[in-house]
Amino acid sequence: CGIVGAVSTRNIVPILVQGLQRLEYRGYDSCGVAVYDTDAIATQEGPLRRARSTSRVAELLSQVQADKVVGTTGIAHTRWATHGAPAVHNAHPHFSHGPHTIDGLTHRPGRIALVHNGIIENHDQLRAELEAKGYVFASQTDTEVIAHLIDSVYDGDLFEAVQQTVVRLHGAYAIAVFCRDEPHRVVGARAGSPLILGVGTHAAAGGELFLASDAMALAGVTDQIVYLEEGDVVDLQLGRYWITNRPAEGGEHVRIEPAQRP
Ligand code: GLU
Repeated sequence: CGIVGAVSTRNIVPILVQGLQRLEYRGYDSCGVAVYDTDAIATQEGPLRRARSTSRVAELLSQVQADKVVGTTGIAHTRWATHGAPAVHNAHPHFSHGPHTIDGLTHRPGRIALVHNGIIENHDQLRAELEAKGYVFASQTDTEVIAHLIDSVYDGDLFEAVQQTVVRLHGAYAIAVFCRDEPHRVVGARAGSPLILGVGTHAAAGGELFLASDAMALAGVTDQIVYLEEGDVVDLQLGRYWITNRPAEGGEHVRIEPAQRP
């Protein structure tokens, strides 16, 4: 239903949650946020922190405050369930779990965190393929296949991994993704669902960039919106971004530099 994402040098949890609050009017049955928390590296959870709720965004805010969830890179979501009941374990963000998790322990959070709007029509087939590779599913959503699929092709470059993944997806999606191994990067993609990029205006935030399903979510933090086109994949890093189109399966990507987009 609603997506907000950010790369920054300041704690962006309040901005992500406020973004969700601005999207609440669209309706939702659950919500969640995940961030890369540099202070939590030594904890059991590792640097990926997450809070999810089947209540209001205000309840999510109390949770992140109580659990001291802070981070400079993150994604957030309000969900309107299509596949899998409205429940905390089905709420986004979803993490990848599987053969590539920390120390090979499959019950620990994986390295990919992802939110998704839309419906993946070939999720059954992708789920079977990923389960055969050892991926362990934690939800009944169509969305979770995207997190594992990205993890399965990830080779140190999240932008590359998302480009390879989107050509396998049938259906509608807007996604925002980040990876445990690349703490200052968020990658987005869209086809059939809206997604925009916002350039941050906060001077002290080191080239802050945002993603959102609706410009309204970014009120007050950006004055420059870039509307992504159908099939685009976008790479957000501090102070710079790149956009590519979605190629035909096996085809070549065309990399578009920011200056070429009005
Ligand atoms: N199909 C996904 C789910 O059920 C995303 C729903 C949405 O767009 O909020 O989790």
